[in-house]
Amino acid sequence: MPPHFTPSPNSASDIDHDVRTTDALLLDAGLVRKLRGNAAGVTRRVRMDRAAQEMLSKADLYHKAPAPRVAANGVHWLAAARWQASGRGTTPWLWNGFSTRQGGASRAYCAEDTPGELNLGFTADDDREAVSTNRRLLAEAVTGSADTPLVTIRQIHSNLLVQAPAADEDRERPRKADGIMTDEPGLLLAVQTADCIPVLVADRKRRAVAAFHAGWRGTVQRIVETGIGRMRIEFGSQPEDLIAAIGPGIGACCYSVGEELFSSFESQFDYAADLFHEVYDSDPIRTRYPMLFLTQRAPGHSPIGPSLHLNLVEANQRQLLAAGLRPKAIQSIGGCTSCDSELFFSHRASHGHAGRMMSVIGIKPR
Ligand SMILES: [Zn+2]
Repeated sequence: MPPHFTPSPNSASDIDHDVRTTDALLLDAGLVRKLRGNAAGVTRRVRMDRAAQEMLSKADLYHKAPAPRVAANGVHWLAAARWQASGRGTTPWLWNGFSTRQGGASRAYCAEDTPGELNLGFTADDDREAVSTNRRLLAEAVTGSADTPLVTIRQIHSNLLVQAPAADEDRERPRKADGIMTDEPGLLLAVQTADCIPVLVADRKRRAVAAFHAGWRGTVQRIVETGIGRMRIEFGSQPEDLIAAIGPGIGACCYSVGEELFSSFESQFDYAADLFHEVYDSDPIRTRYPMLFLTQRAPGHSPIGPSLHLNLVEANQRQLLAAGLRPKAIQSIGGCTSCDSELFFSHRASHGHAGRMMSVIGIKPR
C-alpha cells in the first residue's frame, strides 16, 4: 500500500516532510533516491562564481520552439516528434500533444482585432463556453474526435498522484493532484500550464500513460520521480520501457528566481548547482555604460546582473534519469513560454493575466 501523500506545501518543512514521504514510496517501488553528497562543504558562492565565469546571457539558454502543426479545425499544436515518426520503436498506439495559444474561441487574452485563442483553463477572466469549445477543439486536433474525454486534475503544486477515474466515476469534477495516469484506452489525460513544465510519460510494453505538472514546488518534491515510482506499482512499469516528453515551459533564459529556491533544491539534489545559472543582462547599453544605471538599484545589486536562473527542464530531465529512463528515451520539445509569448501563454510574461495550455496523452482505443 503506497503511503498517503499530503497536498501542497508552501513552507520548507512541509516540503521536507513530503520528500520523506516520497522517499518511502520510492523505496517501496524499488528505487533508491540518490542522496546529496559531494556538494557539502562547497559554498553556494563558490559554485555560483564558477557558473558566473561562463558569462551566460539569456540567448545562451534559450531553446527554440519547433514550428507547430495546424489542425483542420485551426488549432496550432506540438507533438513529440520522436513519438510521431514512422519506423521501428515508435508508438502508433499513443495520442500526445502540447497545445499553443493559437487557434480557438477565447477572447480574454488577445486584442480585439485578432483571431480567437486556445485558452484551455477555466480562468476567472474567460468565458466558460469558449474554454469548453477549445477543449473539444484540442481533443479533435489530437485524437480526431471532439468527443474524446479529456481528464483533468485540480493542480496544487504537490506530488500527489491519481489514476484516471473509471467510466462509472465522475470525470467532470477534477481531483486534486499534479500527476495523473491510466492504462485505460480512449481517454486523454491533461495537465494545464502557463510557465510550469508539463511532462508526459508512456510505457511502451504495458501501454500505460501519465501526465505530470512540474512547477518549482512540484519539482523539488519530485513529482516526476514519484510518479514513475507509482507507475511501477500500479502497472508494473519497468523504467527501461518508459519514454518521456518534456513540454514547453518557462526556459532557463527567463526563469529568474530568488536565492531561497537554490537552498530548497540544494537540500534535496546533489546536482542542484547544475540546475542554476547566473545570467547577465544582455542589454548592450547597460553592459557598456553600467554607470548610467548604477543609481537605479539598491547598493549591492548590480544593474547588469547577474541574476539567478533555474532550469526546470533540466531538473525534470534529471528526475527521469534518476528514475531509470534511458537518456535516449527522453525528449524535450523546446520553446520558452516567456520568450515565445505569441505562441504560448506565460503567467510571468503577462504578469499573471494568462490563459492555460494543455499537454495531453492517451492510449488509442483498439
Ligand atoms: Zn525565455
